[in-house]
Amino acid sequence: MQRPPPSSRRTSPARNWRPDRHRESPRTTGSQHGFWRDQLVDDGSVANSKEDALSDRQFQLLLEGARRLDAPYANQARFIIFATGRLGMRAGEVAHMSEQWIDWRERTIHIPPFDPCTKGRGDGQPCGYCTKRAESIADHNQNVTVEQALSTRWAPKTAAGARAIPFDFETRVEMAVERFFQTHAEYPHSRVSINRRVNRAAEAAEGLDSTRVYPHGLRATASTFHAARGLTGLPLQAFIGWEKLATAETYLNGTTEATRRALRSVHSSR
Ligand SMILES: [Zn+2]
Repeated sequence: MQRPPPSSRRTSPARNWRPDRHRESPRTTGSQHGFWRDQLVDDGSVANSKEDALSDRQFQLLLEGARRLDAPYANQARFIIFATGRLGMRAGEVAHMSEQWIDWRERTIHIPPFDPCTKGRGDGQPCGYCTKRAESIADHNQNVTVEQALSTRWAPKTAAGARAIPFDFETRVEMAVERFFQTHAEYPHSRVSINRRVNRAAEAAEGLDSTRVYPHGLRATASTFHAARGLTGLPLQAFIGWEKLATAETYLNGTTEATRRALRSVHSSR
């Protein structure tokens, strides 16, 4: 059985460590419990992190917080906030992203089904996050060795995670992606650094409860944002990369904004 080494617990964002509330936590600490949950149960996490989705106003406050950080954190935090909070990317995806994923002509990020991870300390070695994922896969599959599992890293969380993300629907989202890749060929740090930058921006922001701001909650923020503006089931599902349409529907139904839109369309037709 793999146990998370103490060092990984120390480097994990302990303040945001809430195992019952969002599913990406186990992956940051390499918990052996995380694998099947991550692979097979994508839906349970949605309802939980949905509670922590930021309103438009809170999202602006977070961006203000990012602006107050020193270089290069300000630029990196801004990119992370848009990539997770508007483009719906997972932290593991942002951490493994390179400019090669971007089709600049089509203004689209293509998350590949596989991209060899060389972010580790050794020469061309996979990063600690990918190594822990591989150990977890080998733990849960008798026929798979750690080496075999490692040779499949990096890969998105699920098959549906390999997807195309158009980013030109809003100018400032587009510009945040452009600005980041003007100075970076790839995201230069580890998976846990994503949480740190989000935390720092949230702490620098005015009037935000920084314990409720974390990457998976930002992914929920993106879902809520697009659903509230009327992005319907299948495109929303494809954009966020959910396995099931039912997950998209939990975002479409029951938001105040969705109710408002439905009311307006009903009454304007009379
Ligand atoms: Zn990796």
